[in-house]
Amino acid sequence: MTKSNQKLSAKTRVAQALRYIDPETGAIIPPIQSSVTFARDENYETRKPYWYKRDGNETTSHAEAMIADLEEAKDTLLFSSGMSAATAVIDHLEEKSHVVVPKAMYHGVLHQFKTYEKKGRLSVSYYEAGDLNELSEVINHNTSLVWAETPNNPDWAVTDIRKAADIAHKHGAKLLTDCTGTPPCATRALNFDADISMHSATKYLNGHSDVTAGALSVRDTGPYWEDITLTRKLQGTVLQSFDAFLLIRGMRTLFLRVERATENALQIANHFNGHKLIQRVLYPGLLNHPEHEVQKVQTEGLYGGMMSIIVKGSEQTAIDVTRFCNVFYPATSLGGVESLIEHRATVSGPDFPVHPNLLRLSIGIEDASDLIEDLEQALERANS
Ligand SMILES: *Cc1c(COP(=O)(O)O)cnc(C)c1O
Repeated sequence: MTKSNQKLSAKTRVAQALRYIDPETGAIIPPIQSSVTFARDENYETRKPYWYKRDGNETTSHAEAMIADLEEAKDTLLFSSGMSAATAVIDHLEEKSHVVVPKAMYHGVLHQFKTYEKKGRLSVSYYEAGDLNELSEVINHNTSLVWAETPNNPDWAVTDIRKAADIAHKHGAKLLTDCTGTPPCATRALNFDADISMHSATKYLNGHSDVTAGALSVRDTGPYWEDITLTRKLQGTVLQSFDAFLLIRGMRTLFLRVERATENALQIANHFNGHKLIQRVLYPGLLNHPEHEVQKVQTEGLYGGMMSIIVKGSEQTAIDVTRFCNVFYPATSLGGVESLIEHRATVSGPDFPVHPNLLRLSIGIEDASDLIEDLEQALERANS
């Protein structure tokens, strides 16, 4: 068997950026296409597929091809942020469409739905994230879209994607999953029958906290997909080529980073589970997490580095823990190689349902014992 018809694993394909080789020079790194415009040919025809950069360029297309490959998707579009990807989907819905969304989830997306609801553009029903009974109660035959974030911010509730897709499809609705917390080396949502898989590529896919990007991947294309593509073009929210170049570079190490973050997170979650200064550890990788078995299947054991801890004491104790950390950065975002800690109630504001003592941890790839010691000393100091 020759190398070329051997079925390579996703790990190999992504590490080699889909085995890129420049046909003219032999360079193995995809170049950054900086040109905004593309000259027509001698017959005054555009040289497809590119003609103006707001439509896309080959660096961005290469990153899209890598994500489509990971997701096993028919097509992928990259946007300048996760929020612009989410907004393109929300925007393409017909006036007065009915949508079903979690009561708590990534705060920016929830804010968008609430804004569209307030302006009368959409009719919105809410369900407890992960609760499929509640989802079944609020969905109806006019529902266009079910939104599921899994694992869900900031409690990391897990939605059984296949069951949610079943409920959505029985009502003629599409299911969109936001699995930003478990990127497509772990969760390939389309294979569990989601229709649209959205990711903030700012997080694990890029992994180095130096790009904002958002990805939409689909099982089936068609008019709705053309509509979303057109929205990206008209709103000018395509991912730019330098950012796409960084994303390609980041994705080469996706498996390594998520494997290491998972190892670290499992050690940290197990260490602090039952700790005298901590009320609860919320992490789907823990055996006592109610959806542990579902998540084991949906991530193939790569639970990722996202967890939350609810500390004992007052809200100020929780804020103090973040202030006293020396290794964790007290910063927002997630999915980078460096560990972050964040007091969610401060960030998401008064209208968002979150426990006042909840700290969200994004576990990076550092030495796990450095992270454990850092949290131990911060907890001690906040309680003394
Ligand atoms: C960060 C994030 C988003 C928004 O993505 P940006 O790239 O910051 O615009 C959406 N959903 C989830 C779950 C996120 O973590």
